[in-house]
Amino acid sequence: MKLGIFSDVHGNLEALEAVLGFLEKEGVGSYLCCGDIVGYGADPCPCIERVAQLRGPVVAGNHDWGAIGRVSPGEFNSAARTSLGWTIEQLSENEVSYLDSLALTEELDPFYMVHSSPSAPRQWEYVFMLRDAEAEMRYFSSNACLVGHSHYPFVVEKKGHSPARLLRNRRFEVRPDTKYLVNVGSVGQPRDGDPRACCATYDTKARVMSTYRLEYDVVRAQDKIRGAGLPEFLAERLAAGR
Ligand code: ZN
Repeated sequence: MKLGIFSDVHGNLEALEAVLGFLEKEGVGSYLCCGDIVGYGADPCPCIERVAQLRGPVVAGNHDWGAIGRVSPGEFNSAARTSLGWTIEQLSENEVSYLDSLALTEELDPFYMVHSSPSAPRQWEYVFMLRDAEAEMRYFSSNACLVGHSHYPFVVEKKGHSPARLLRNRRFEVRPDTKYLVNVGSVGQPRDGDPRACCATYDTKARVMSTYRLEYDVVRAQDKIRGAGLPEFLAERLAAGR
């Protein structure tokens, strides 16, 4: 079976539809989401509905918890706070209880899922550097840990006592004797300078993970952000991938 893996949708329905359409064509049967369904983008409600329909494990992100009052607005920067206030006004009771039902971590062999970091899921810290990723390896016992949060895709592997290293292949085997920390990047707001949406697949039989970048209708997503009266910066950054 093939699993579809994605994270950080951030209310960007155009990017989410592009990713889900692609994953469906790839023959994906189950989906895993590493959180932040809402925040920043103009379609929080349709994105929640679409992700909930997939019925796969979804972990809570800081924006998901921010939208239901479980993370204080003071923990977000100004544009994020503005969009969070707007998002809160959009959510129905059902959508609030869906976000409230999300756990901080989930396990689905061979994966351990957490939005920010396995060492401190509630602290919402970023794992950016190879050194940080290496330190995180001892906080999960599964074969591979899937994270989101930084919107910056990377794969780090560590075998036994050898130093961790960055994997640059778009396709790699998840070997049972090696540990992996994988940030699948962001669907709705990539920040690595490439505006295309991020996602991945995992073939459970071959144990192969493949990562992808997909074009989507950025202009439509930007128009919706402007139409909703959200900060201009949130529209501009989608085109720049920053
Ligand atoms: Zn995020």
